[in-house]
Amino acid sequence: MDFDLSDDHRLLRSTVREFAEQEIAPVAEELDRTKAFPYELVKRLGELNLMGIPFPEEVGGAGADTLAYAIAVEELARIDSSVAITLCAHTSLGTQPIYLFGTDEQKRDWLPRLTAGERLGAFGLTEPEAGSDAGNVQTRATLDGGDWVINGAKQFITNAGTDISGCVVITAVTDVDARGRKEISNILVPNGTPGYEQGTPYRKMGWNASDTRPLTFTDCRVPGDHLVGPRGAGFKQFLRVLDIGRIGVAAMGVGLAQGALDEALKYAKERKAFGQPISRYQAIQAKLADVATEIAAARLLTYNAAYLKDQGRDFSLTAAQAKLKTGRLAVRASEEAVQIHGGYGYIEEYPVCRFYRDAKILTIGEGTDEVQQMVIARALGA
Ligand SMILES: Cc1cc2nc3c(=O)[nH]c(=O)nc-3n(C[C@H](O)[C@H](O)[C@H](O)COP(=O)(O)OP(=O)(O)OC[C@H]3O[C@@H](n4cnc5c(N)ncnc54)[C@H](O)[C@@H]3O)c2cc1C
Repeated sequence: MDFDLSDDHRLLRSTVREFAEQEIAPVAEELDRTKAFPYELVKRLGELNLMGIPFPEEVGGAGADTLAYAIAVEELARIDSSVAITLCAHTSLGTQPIYLFGTDEQKRDWLPRLTAGERLGAFGLTEPEAGSDAGNVQTRATLDGGDWVINGAKQFITNAGTDISGCVVITAVTDVDARGRKEISNILVPNGTPGYEQGTPYRKMGWNASDTRPLTFTDCRVPGDHLVGPRGAGFKQFLRVLDIGRIGVAAMGVGLAQGALDEALKYAKERKAFGQPISRYQAIQAKLADVATEIAAARLLTYNAAYLKDQGRDFSLTAAQAKLKTGRLAVRASEEAVQIHGGYGYIEEYPVCRFYRDAKILTIGEGTDEVQQMVIARALGA
């Protein structure tokens, strides 16, 4: 076994780290406070060829692998989760369905703009009545004169409502059989299509500078060829997209935990109590040591999920385990980091305060912890 990263992966890590430290860190607090979408940073991510990392160069991507993608996401989340989730949702959820299942024309039309970061992609699966139970889709799409006419609502959708949002791929019920079983299909809806509206952004606990909104479709008409993949394959397709997405979200957990640890260590060495830096006290050292150890384990699990995918092997179980492990770790690491900061950890000028708020969603989005446990238990044969 070779645990060393390749030169390319190491170079990518240092490039993204430098970008994140020099260009994101100085504005992260303000973006979070003002809840402003980071247009300038997204533009820079596009210029750095980071908005389509795992897609081939022919479609405008960086032609890199899933491990490279995970490393880049990790480095972004080490500094700011709003920027990281914007890239992550765009890549894994927005672009991936078109790349994996789209027609040649859809790929030609969308992938170059998406991978360049000129346009953002979104994936609309969750509905008021369909979260963990994602198959319980209520949104309907019916064929009328060769067009799909869509009616329904989606909620908590990332990247759909910015000035540069290009399209959303949604799940919709396209038929119901005599026994009441739903046929679910994926349909691409470009922003600007009449009848497709993006609601007001949610007031969130964290990820404040990322775009999350409810969507509504009212007699929204798109041409029949906007179907993504075969009719009725929507359920299988979104499970695949979620599997891949879990690797990115797991990388966010590793990155956030690492960022929290770095901040906590730095602070512990500076802050003095009872005449010496608090980093000299065993109670503080134990926290730092435990978190560092958990991060090392979680990073290996996440990279293993990426490696298995890159090898063309089954990665669903490992991706679910990585997602479960890293979400919990992010919550714990950020809490310990706040604790080590004492009262200052509760003050927004310190990044750990934001990390603490940003961490919780990692145990909920892209499948809750309980859903990951279901996936893992099923794989165990339980
Ligand atoms: C900031 C943000 C961004 C998001 N971005 C997107 C996006 O871009 N696209 C998208 O489609 N969705 C997105 N989501 C939605 C997210 O994936 C869902 O919120 C998540 O899957 C949970 O669904 P739910 O909120 O309906 O919770 P529910 O499914 O209602 O779950 C409520 C609770 O019940 C538990 N539960 C449910 N079923 C079971 C069971 N069988 N056994 C045990 N426990 C169970 C859950 O684990 C959870 O604890 C986003 C959410 C947020 C908050």
